[in-house]
Amino acid sequence: MTVRLDDVAARATAQSLETILGELEAQPESPARTLAFDAVDALLQLHGEGLARIVTAHREGRLSNELLGSDEVVSQLLAVHGLVRSAARQEPLVQLERRKPTEEDAEDEIIDGLGDLATECQLCAAPITANHRHLLDGEARQLVCACDACALTFDGRAEAHAGTTRRYRLIPRRVRSLDATAIDEDQWTRLELPVDIAFMFMSSSAGRPVAFYPGPMGTTESVLPLPAWDEIVSKSPILATLEPDVEAILVHRTHGARDYWLVPVDECYRLAGAMRATWEGISGGDAVRSAIRAFFRRLEARDAASRRHQSGTGAVAAGVSLEQTTTILEGSCPTT
Ligand SMILES: [Zn+2]
Ligand SMILES: [Zn+2]
Repeated sequence: MTVRLDDVAARATAQSLETILGELEAQPESPARTLAFDAVDALLQLHGEGLARIVTAHREGRLSNELLGSDEVVSQLLAVHGLVRSAARQEPLVQLERRKPTEEDAEDEIIDGLGDLATECQLCAAPITANHRHLLDGEARQLVCACDACALTFDGRAEAHAGTTRRYRLIPRRVRSLDATAIDEDQWTRLELPVDIAFMFMSSSAGRPVAFYPGPMGTTESVLPLPAWDEIVSKSPILATLEPDVEAILVHRTHGARDYWLVPVDECYRLAGAMRATWEGISGGDAVRSAIRAFFRRLEARDAASRRHQSGTGAVAAGVSLEQTTTILEGSCPTT
């Protein structure tokens, strides 16, 4: 049976809920924060639907014990709170079992399995999950796996506030698909990239834009012609906000594709690691193609999830289930 509240206790609970949501809102963006908001959205949606059905039934004079016990949504909600016994024949609305892995999951596992398997923070040795953040070590020019506390310490915003420069920089998390016209054919030619998949970013140590091509032997580095880079970056408002060293433009032009992305560099290295590990023969083979497909499908999911949260609508409103959201956010990150 649910705990009953008098009006004063209900008011206090509402107030504390508001405080909790305010604090959650103030948290830095993280998978846990996103999941918490999605869970709140889903619960509100289900409870709202239940109340609407009760009000409608009442208005139409259909409100009865039978209706409360048989309506799929209403009976489940009442059962969750111990207010009626759940109708035995119904499938529970909230499925707690793990769903069966699909072919797509298997592909995602390829990508995840090739990510780093770090279990502790490389700065403070605290335990970390597969979904940990990365820092760019500007001196050693490599990625460092970090716990949330260390990630927060090196958050660029905190750094700017303190007015200091640091050896480590937090790799951002934003993923955005760019317009197919972000790089036109003429600009592509002038970039002089000999491959279909590449990532490029402004390197502050080199003082110019650089490109990397993932392949069977790892990534190959080359410098980019500055005029073509400047032209591409200046014609797109979002690319003008590209953070040097830690955010890249990822290009995917295999089989006539014209996919351009703004991504954090750790994702680029994840793709490079997946390609190197699955590459077979001269052209790469089926395994590498499937790894590339899985990687870009996951970028699409992350892009969609972040757009949803930016526009302030929940996952439920966009027709995405909690399960799907969990899968989207489960991505681990690579260091190679
Ligand atoms: Zn740490
Ligand atoms: Zn890592």
